[in-house]
Amino acid sequence: MEDRVSLYNTLTRRVETFVPNEPGKVLMYTCGPTVYHFAHIGNLRSYIEEDVLEKTLRYLGYDVKRVMNITDVGHLSDDGDNGEDKMVKGAQREHKTVMEIAKFYTDAFFADCRKLNIKMPDVVEPATNCIPEFIHMIEVLLEKGYAYRAGENVYFDTSKLKEYYVLTNHSEESLLEGVRDDVDVDENKKNKNDFVLWFTKSKFEDQALKWDSPWGVGYPGWHIECSCISMKHLGEYMDIHCGGVDNIFPHHTNEIAQSESYLGHKWCNYWFHVNHLNDKNGKMSKSKGGILTVSVIEEKGYHPLVYRMFCLQSHYRKPLEFSYDVMDQVKAAYEKLRRRVSSLAADGAVDEAVFAQYRTQFEDALANDINTASAITVLYDVLKADTNDATKKALAKSFDEVLGLDLTEPLPQKEESADSELAAWVAEMIGKRAEAKKAKDFAAADAIREELAARGVQIKDTREGVVWELTK
Ligand code: AMP
Ligand code: ZN
Repeated sequence: MEDRVSLYNTLTRRVETFVPNEPGKVLMYTCGPTVYHFAHIGNLRSYIEEDVLEKTLRYLGYDVKRVMNITDVGHLSDDGDNGEDKMVKGAQREHKTVMEIAKFYTDAFFADCRKLNIKMPDVVEPATNCIPEFIHMIEVLLEKGYAYRAGENVYFDTSKLKEYYVLTNHSEESLLEGVRDDVDVDENKKNKNDFVLWFTKSKFEDQALKWDSPWGVGYPGWHIECSCISMKHLGEYMDIHCGGVDNIFPHHTNEIAQSESYLGHKWCNYWFHVNHLNDKNGKMSKSKGGILTVSVIEEKGYHPLVYRMFCLQSHYRKPLEFSYDVMDQVKAAYEKLRRRVSSLAADGAVDEAVFAQYRTQFEDALANDINTASAITVLYDVLKADTNDATKKALAKSFDEVLGLDLTEPLPQKEESADSELAAWVAEMIGKRAEAKKAKDFAAADAIREELAARGVQIKDTREGVVWELTK
């Protein structure tokens, strides 16, 4: 098959043609959630865009295998090695055990994903399932001289690498300038960016989950889990690694450092990063409290897929500002779209040539660095196109494999009855207009046309009779 997808690759800082290691097959990894709280809709923006990437690749004929971890240990409240363990903090907050917290929020995460039509990855693996794999990787890194023991922890030695900042333009100096005053400097580290692979001793002695290891009882650092879990299921060569832009440094930078040192060769070719959802105060984050979740937007009267459409109308590489005004506009557009598709008659033969023409346009939009906004425009073009309803409906159904907006699902009961009420009213008005025209009362006929237009109904006189469509 022809490789027609171009993607922005954080590693090379350019848009490139995506060519997988094995023709037609894509091995893809996504950093999963840290399950100490509900996912906020910012986190879910990343998962929606990654879902669209996966579905685009499948739509274009690739055989995709996608793996996701669940971070249930090791992620500290600072993305480096400082601060408290997020899971322990969550357990203390809710007076539960860490594993109860992990189970509850993992289930909640996948429930949100289902509401947003985010497909379950082929493999989902919690970090706590893979402790022997982490220990093995750390042992190899120690043997190869890429890691050292200090203060009873095991650290990765970043000075052993020819190039550490492969994903970023960071330099040691700019990072030093960026160091916050309130972050404790770990005295054990040989170099500022060295990071913990295994903790046995740290300032929080009350760590709930601990395992035996060659270095004593302790627990893994955060970064090691993604290297190990991806290799466990995808092998030594990966095509695409995804995450939000905040993962670029230090998480993904450290993943590359330890994975390539362990393997002795290049690990992953394409790095796909989704930009942030912001609120008025900047990046939406779980630690800020009062977070916006799927349940909150549902309570405010929005179908979760309105939020999916909100995301798809902008490009994944641009920051996106959340606002209820825009959500209202998207809600109106979404409901109208669903009604338009639902009013299409399904009988009749699909025009294969027209179908192929629009499918290609849709694929081209997505293949162009996942341009979802253009892909949605193609859908609107289909609905306006000069072709029969069956073809339009078949295209909407097909596009929905990627868009995931439930376009051809039956409308909710309330809307269906609103729909049939509208249809009955329009039929009555068309009848009255026909009578007025017969009686040569053209002013009355025009008034009826205007009354229909005011309710968003446009009528057309055709040889087959009067037809109508919704315009708003
Ligand atoms: P976490 O549960 O904190 O490990 O984050 C899960 C995913 O959400 C990661 O890929 C993050 O990069 C991503 N993420 C975090 N905050 C945002 C945000 N405001 N907008 C988009 N993605 C985010
Ligand atoms: Zn990760």
